[in-house]
Amino acid sequence: MGVKTYNPNEQLPYITTRREAVLAWGRKNSLWPMPFGTACCAIEFMGVVSSVFDISRFGAELVRFSPRQSDLLIVAGTITYKMAPILKQIYDQMSEPKWVISMGVCASSGGFYNNYCTMQGIDHIIPVDVYIAGCPPRPEAILDAVMKIQEKIENPKTKPPAQFKVKEPKFDY
Ligand code: SF4
Repeated sequence: MGVKTYNPNEQLPYITTRREAVLAWGRKNSLWPMPFGTACCAIEFMGVVSSVFDISRFGAELVRFSPRQSDLLIVAGTITYKMAPILKQIYDQMSEPKWVISMGVCASSGGFYNNYCTMQGIDHIIPVDVYIAGCPPRPEAILDAVMKIQEKIENPKTKPPAQFKVKEPKFDY
């Protein structure tokens, strides 16, 4: 935000700022999350919306289950290859600008499900802005991820990390 000063003629306060700063301020404080919950992490996500942790303190309490009404995708749980095209389609349907949080080891790396049907990380198909470690992560970790997203929105020059490219795992059993 800019400098608060006074118009000497009218004695009215006014503020100067950049349009991008105002837009970023609005986006940052009104995130609309869409939880893509497939397993136990989704239950943990429910805690963050409760009065104990109260995600509305960060302006992100308006949870939506429609990609067209959301700008923050929170993938919480195991993603199988059968589910992957649905997740990709949901991401594609969200309007720009949009951000993605990968919650828990299952969404981020497949976790301990190193088998033929489990995707070894959602960053194989969609870009991820913030990864949350843990199985399951605590609600505080989700709040921390939301704050990291807010920092990114405020500093748009901070580019999201390059997609984590790994080869598909080879199975020797
Ligand atoms: S990371 Fe742990 S808590 Fe989260 S979905 Fe996987 S097994 Fe469940």
